[in-house]
Amino acid sequence: MSIRKVGISMPLHRSKKTVAEDEFRDIYTDSICKTTLPKNELPDKSFNPQVIKQLVQDELFMDGNARQNLATFCTTYIEDEVRDLMDLSIDKNMIDKDEYPQTADIEQRCVNILADLWNVPNKKDTIGCSTTGSSEAAMLGGLALKWRWRKRRETERKATDKPNFVCGPVQICWHKFARYFDVEIREIPLTDNELGLTPGHLKDFCDENTIGVVVTLGSTFTGIYEPVEEIAKALDVLWDETGLDIPIHVDGASGAFIAPFIHKTIKWDFCLPRVKSINASGHKFGMAPLGVGWVLWRTIADLPKELIFNVDYLGGQMPTFALNFSRPAGQIIAQYYKFLRLGREGYTAIQDDCACTAQYLGCQLKTIDLLELLYDGNGGIPAVCYALKDESAVGFSLYDLSERLRMHGWQIASYPLPSNRHNLTVQRILIRHGVSRDMISLLLRDLRKELAHLKNNPTLTSSNQVSFHH
Ligand SMILES: *Cc1c(COP(=O)(O)O)cnc(C)c1O
Repeated sequence: MSIRKVGISMPLHRSKKTVAEDEFRDIYTDSICKTTLPKNELPDKSFNPQVIKQLVQDELFMDGNARQNLATFCTTYIEDEVRDLMDLSIDKNMIDKDEYPQTADIEQRCVNILADLWNVPNKKDTIGCSTTGSSEAAMLGGLALKWRWRKRRETERKATDKPNFVCGPVQICWHKFARYFDVEIREIPLTDNELGLTPGHLKDFCDENTIGVVVTLGSTFTGIYEPVEEIAKALDVLWDETGLDIPIHVDGASGAFIAPFIHKTIKWDFCLPRVKSINASGHKFGMAPLGVGWVLWRTIADLPKELIFNVDYLGGQMPTFALNFSRPAGQIIAQYYKFLRLGREGYTAIQDDCACTAQYLGCQLKTIDLLELLYDGNGGIPAVCYALKDESAVGFSLYDLSERLRMHGWQIASYPLPSNRHNLTVQRILIRHGVSRDMISLLLRDLRKELAHLKNNPTLTSSNQVSFHH
């Protein structure tokens, strides 16, 4: 008996059986299938891999269906070629640059492709790396801002104990950055009908301790782009008037993979001198599978060299900047595949299709009386965002609607807008590669049906409507 069979259940029974009998055995008649699976302790024995795989797979069916998850920004449509490449690279650790020099090279090529796409002034004088996603990329971008600010303050012999950064309604990763790395977050409240950071209030929030302004290209909450160019101009004016020279980091988690293809007239990237770093999620509109993000700096000098560690690479040294050490290489390889396979033509066609579908959905939602559109899919990322016109009058909330749509398999998140607009509950629908016009027409059918149902069967009585609002 080969050593591999040790630990597989019932080897003695098996040895007495003929091959034909073995083939006839059904997975669900295995003894483990007559029990419930161990949940919180490591089982004492080993089990048959096929049987366990089947049971784990069965449990996973109880998760939602990712393709119908209209709340996520992340890749859910995956080509077979990507699966093959991921399989091929499952055993590669991207940190082992010496052992896998081609993979290291491929990561660098992806950085170069993005540097070109995001208009760095000098392709030889730029630096960047892959990350696990935009969250890690944001930490790295934020750390570079903090270190640059501190170095400057130290040479000026000024206090370095109260760094802050200024932003609009940001994704949670920036709140994490603030807490983990001890930097005050100054989230400018939204006034009137604003959905994001605008240049107007910047001067009231920036001071000598501001390490940078974080501008979001593709708001997590609504899908809009914050106006990077106008914000850069306002900071230029601030510099003229006060001498405060404050850099911009663009959180382009979604937008940095969309704007270069379908919003070419918008200025948001390294073409603006004030933009010193940009992050993006490869696994969102970069269309790579889950687990890859990117961060790039305008020039090498924008990334303080104290933050860089050197790893061995082909007998030499390779600079790295990351929070993780070991990390799978497959996502990076798949990102490179996507770049080569789609090219500008493919990315443009897909992002454009997604934008058209989002705008179609926006138009359809506008015809529904109960809803008020906040973002109709024009000018930002392929998405729509809407609220109920008057929650107390209709007698149900968007949370009820989310629940009803879930019965059809659709996953659509309801949540309050951030900062001082939190009493407005909204829903957001993301249109990604693979969310087709036809799928959206089926969603609209279900949405209309469930809105009618809720209108006829209100969930809020007049007494709990009051409590709902408080
Ligand atoms: C999704 C998102 C993030 C976080 O990115 P991950 O890749 O999920 O870590 C940060 N900022 C914005 C604007 C996002 O949309």
